[in-house]
Amino acid sequence: MKVLENVSLKQYNTFGMDVKSRRFAAFSNSEELGEALAIDEVKKGEKLTLGGGSNVLFVNDFDGTILKNDVRGIEKVGEEEDTVLVRAGAGENWHEFVLHAIENNWAGIENLSLIPGNIGASPMQNIGAYGVEIKDVFHSLEAFHLPTGEVHTFYHNDCEFGYRESVFKRKYKGQYVILTVTYRLLKNPQLSLDYGAIKAELERMQVSSPDISAVSQAVINIRQSKLPDPKLIGNAGSFFKNPVIDKRKFEKLKIKFPEMASYPVSEDKVKVAAGWLIDKAGWKGRRFDEFGVHERQALVLVNYGGAAGTDIYNLSEEIMEDIYEQFGIHLEREVNVY
Ligand code: FAD
Ligand code: NAP
Repeated sequence: MKVLENVSLKQYNTFGMDVKSRRFAAFSNSEELGEALAIDEVKKGEKLTLGGGSNVLFVNDFDGTILKNDVRGIEKVGEEEDTVLVRAGAGENWHEFVLHAIENNWAGIENLSLIPGNIGASPMQNIGAYGVEIKDVFHSLEAFHLPTGEVHTFYHNDCEFGYRESVFKRKYKGQYVILTVTYRLLKNPQLSLDYGAIKAELERMQVSSPDISAVSQAVINIRQSKLPDPKLIGNAGSFFKNPVIDKRKFEKLKIKFPEMASYPVSEDKVKVAAGWLIDKAGWKGRRFDEFGVHERQALVLVNYGGAAGTDIYNLSEEIMEDIYEQFGIHLEREVNVY
């Protein structure tokens, strides 16, 4: 097990921030991770697990050890009448896993096509898109407990999944390294086509009886038409979560902004599209030298090449203050800032 020193993280984060990590250890199993942690400076110092780096913003050099998760392997580990259990290593690429599931006709994650990043982060923030979240297909995960070196198994109820949330972002923040995740996928698809854009894209594709492969392709088409490719323009997807506000507050706002994009989440709560708020406030497409707000998707902050993490962070602060001033709504960052 080799621990490298002063490693540039530029190629390890999709914002493309050229910061340095004091130490860097890539591991492909729990034994290698244990070996790295046996090194005194690694054990004592700060540690950060990294997958594909597509949901992080580095604002400083990292004065600790990056634990780069390269645990690989995809295996069917169980089967029942209607479902299969499939276990994947945390270092496997998410979208390749989705494609593998589609090839095997295992359904449930086709709406989550083309999300960047790796398997290990998928339960971290309960990734979601087009009406499907990881919690819908999650079975269990194995995670290395950094304080004790033990490997613990977490089942659905242990993870406390919420909207882009889990126990690993809150109570157990920084304590666990996820090694494998097991998903329960369906043999008979139950397609989720409620997000309007999917139906419209299937129509455009002239598909009248869609299967999981067609739904995946529709999602890929929509995403490619709207979202910047991190290989070309640095970004970490949606920078903010969609705020969920009280219905009474929403009804007052609706009088002033009748066209406000919103979705009911319960009897007394409403989800407001953060992208709509940022667009309405006039930020969409604004560029400040080397960084800005993406021209087609106001939720995405971008690095055109030479921006520093603090530029993006300060821009996010300005947007949050402005949205509060204009709408009285607090935005929350979705991206993890280090
Ligand atoms: P990283 O960025 O490496 O890590 C994210 C966080 O998880 C960090 O706090 C890290 O410490 C922790 N972590 C990572 N791996 C592990 C592990 N094995 N064990 C413990 N902790 C770990 N997200 C969505 O939910 N839906 C979308 O539709 C979506 N679209 C996106 C589109 C674009 C263009 C981009 C750039 C991002 C998008 N994202 C989306 C955000 C991002 O892709 C997801 O959050 C993804 O799951 C992050 O995976 P990662 O491996 O890159 O995580
Ligand atoms: P969109 O279709 O323009 O819709 C805007 C927002 O409205 C979305 O954020 C979505 O909330 C919500 N919405 C739309 N239709 C809905 C419905 N039928 N029911 C409930 N809520 C609805 O969104 P988009 O920006 O192009 O993104 C499409 C999907 O990909 C969304 O699910 C989004 O979360 C996901 N995505 C996520 C990221 C990320 O980094 N997290 C980046 C890009 C796209 P939800 O976000 O709650 O679904």
